[in-house]
Amino acid sequence: MTPGLRSALLEAVCELDARNLSPGTSGNLSARTPGGFLITPSGLAAGLMQTADLVEVSLAGEWPRSRRPSSEWRFHRDIYRHFPEASAVVHAHPPFCVALASHRRGIPAFHYSVALAGGADIRCADYATFGTQALSDNVLSALEGRRACLMANHGMVCFADNPAKALSLALEVEHLARSYVHALSLGEPVVLDGDEMDRVLGQFDDYRAGRLTARQRGK
Ligand code: 13P
Ligand code: ZN
Repeated sequence: MTPGLRSALLEAVCELDARNLSPGTSGNLSARTPGGFLITPSGLAAGLMQTADLVEVSLAGEWPRSRRPSSEWRFHRDIYRHFPEASAVVHAHPPFCVALASHRRGIPAFHYSVALAGGADIRCADYATFGTQALSDNVLSALEGRRACLMANHGMVCFADNPAKALSLALEVEHLARSYVHALSLGEPVVLDGDEMDRVLGQFDDYRAGRLTARQRGK
């Protein structure tokens, strides 16, 4: 496996820490490899982590005896198994995501950018104890048709093409969660309807591909 992937993953770990997205040893990151995925070790703070500490886990859930992968390796493994487009996964405990998830609330289309997560809302996965297969099953259900979800009484998880993009999506989701909590302090915000979110999702495909739609060209 390329040393570049280990460095890219560690860089994202340090950025997650620098952006205060997950305190202490909470949160974990991974990147797909030809036979499985490379994941952060369990219980090690970002500041102490080195590339050699990252653990390679197979899709069958096996790893070298000398190392202990993140306790959440199951949902990382299941995301790679279920979503061929996932090349990197970020799990974190960002404060505004946690605030909503503690009420078991997801993020509705109060802002069109919710579409960044792939659909008309960002769901909140049902609660299960950390590190369990039950939690992984709940996360997989909440991710159906999406790239991100909140996790009840826990945090959030998202995936993307590479560690830097997954980190950037995690920051976007936390920003949306913060805005939604602010919006809720004024009462229930207006939520965009399904037709409008379908239009937004269509435009996002063009936006991500760098194409201008006919309307944007003024036609
Ligand atoms: P790990 O240190 O085992 O990755 O656990 C952190 C965490 O966030 C558990 O949900
Ligand atoms: Zn966690």
